[in-house]
Amino acid sequence: MDGSWLMKLPGDDTGSTRMYGMHRRRLHAALLDAAGDAEVSTGMRVVHIDPGNAERQATIVVNTQGGEQRTTADLVIGADGVHSRLRSVLLPERKVVSSGYTSWRAIIPAVELITDKFAMSWGPHAEFGALPVGHGEVYWYGYAKCPPGTNFPDESVAVRERFADWHDAAQFLIAGTAPGCLMRHDVWVLDKALKSYARGRTVLIGDAAHPMLPTLGQGANSALEDGVTIGRLVPPRTRDIPAALRRVDQQRRPRTQGLVRQSAAMARIDAHLGPGWRQQVGNAMFRSMPAGLAQRSGGSFLNWQVPGRP
Ligand SMILES: Cc1cc2nc3c(=O)[nH]c(=O)nc-3n(C[C@H](O)[C@H](O)[C@H](O)COP(=O)(O)OP(=O)(O)OC[C@H]3O[C@@H](n4cnc5c(N)ncnc54)[C@H](O)[C@@H]3O)c2cc1C
Repeated sequence: MDGSWLMKLPGDDTGSTRMYGMHRRRLHAALLDAAGDAEVSTGMRVVHIDPGNAERQATIVVNTQGGEQRTTADLVIGADGVHSRLRSVLLPERKVVSSGYTSWRAIIPAVELITDKFAMSWGPHAEFGALPVGHGEVYWYGYAKCPPGTNFPDESVAVRERFADWHDAAQFLIAGTAPGCLMRHDVWVLDKALKSYARGRTVLIGDAAHPMLPTLGQGANSALEDGVTIGRLVPPRTRDIPAALRRVDQQRRPRTQGLVRQSAAMARIDAHLGPGWRQQVGNAMFRSMPAGLAQRSGGSFLNWQVPGRP
């Protein structure tokens, strides 16, 4: 938290230690562009689903401004986030639980950073990080222990106070953030891993299927992998969609649930580490760890291959 370096990962040719930041708005625009002339409807809230089966299409019930609508589909991809309505209908026994942590985040006009690469720092029960996201903008986050549902009268004051004794770069980024650019979200996970992501003609992906702590930075990345895998394993005119979705589940569940476990394990030795001697032990461990070893263990989960077509 004082800004002294614990470890610097060397650059490499595989890109496994290079972090690329992208504004969600630009990611959405790129995905929309890639969707070509597909019809995209927004402003609808899914309230119910019948997942269908090999013989019967899935049925989705949505709430729109004009009232409730039912629609049928050959394939439903449930990407409705950690508080997924689809999951709660299909798997009501699974509950969302608080991680006990919250995260302030902002994207602000580029300011001079201590490094143009991704840099993160840890302190008692907290992590701060910053990363350029292109287009002259910088993303920063301040992740800290905080009871769920906490209301701060002024979020800007709250984050400034929480990171008041941290290094200059953190102070600088927080101070340079207009209140309207600052957001905060509590971080939620599942009480237990799902036994399957697929049911009939419906498959859950992203945070609906495998919410994870942000300590590996793999939540959105793994959601994109889910999407690519469905594109590969369920191409247009797939005859047996439930069978294809079972293959998606077999491919994705081990990897993503591994990421859930790894992000929790990582948190225990960095962002969730308590004060006092624990910080000293954690810092000593990172200082003494060979950067190559850290790089290789990072590479092990970043090294994902697009699946072949069936
Ligand atoms: C603090 C923090 C830092 C993070 N950092 C990283 C990082 O560095 N790298 C990374 O890869 N990931 C990161 N993540 C994780 C990442 O944000 C999520 O994993 C990712 O957004 C999940 O995408 P998703 O599409 O599954 O869900 P979401 O992004 O939550 O999208 C769900 C969508 O579904 C919509 N929706 C919800 N309910 C309904 C309904 N009933 N009907 C219709 N629509 C509905 C919502 O409006 C929303 O648009 C971070 C997360 C947090 C909290």
